Amino acid sequence: MTRTSLSLRAAAVSCILVALNGCATAPETGRRQVLLIDSAQEAQMGLQSFEKIKRDTPVSRDRQANAQLQSVGRRIASVVSIPNADWEFVLFESDEPNAFALPGGKIGVNTGILPITQTEAGLATVIAHEIAHVTARHGAERMSQDLLVQVGGTALSTLLGSQSPVARDLAMQAYGVGTEVGVMLPYSRTQEYEADRVGLLYMARAGFDPNAAIGFWERFQARNQSRGTRTPEFLSTHPLDDARIAQLRGFLPQAMAEYEHARR
Ligand SMILES: [Zn+2]
Repeated sequence: MTRTSLSLRAAAVSCILVALNGCATAPETGRRQVLLIDSAQEAQMGLQSFEKIKRDTPVSRDRQANAQLQSVGRRIASVVSIPNADWEFVLFESDEPNAFALPGGKIGVNTGILPITQTEAGLATVIAHEIAHVTARHGAERMSQDLLVQVGGTALSTLLGSQSPVARDLAMQAYGVGTEVGVMLPYSRTQEYEADRVGLLYMARAGFDPNAAIGFWERFQARNQSRGTRTPEFLSTHPLDDARIAQLRGFLPQAMAEYEHARR
């Protein structure tokens, strides 16, 4: 493609984005995002997906672990705001160390991640990180990027307006629900760093020591290295390496200031 046609195409796409009101800003970081579906649509998709997961996956009857999840979850939910949120925290009985958050405030945690979270603050790390993916609308952002690549600019408004199966499938993948489509979109590195940074602030504001986040990710990394066979689902969608943990340490001073403030 020539330079001229590329820039013409870019201009056409940005016109459509403006028309769809698709430009947004991520919370706390102020990063510019392209978002092509609205939050009510997102919440509806999140709710439907969560109902399906609850039908397909056994729920844990461990009273103590359930009580801890409810308590930690409520505390973090109380410091964030999501339009159309109806908070729900469910502990699933599964050895797979995984956790996820869906738009609309639906949070799932597998029992298999509890030996890695270990403490309340460890669990808060996971929940705050997942909630940050939701408040920053990372799933919708990935979906929007994929739509732009797949259909180009012109067909977008038709596609989104019609709620076509393609758009719905992409949304499901974007949120890592993937049970029907079988594929999960990993979050990008930019989104992971953003969820780490924003998640640290959320846990700190809710009164959990943000230092616990470093311990959690180090334990997860050590566990993964020692097993060396298959990358757990959680780490395939949340890529983890030394650079990421170093970056997380860099976010600590701001989070510690929030933590001290929350405790006063
Ligand atoms: Zn993540």
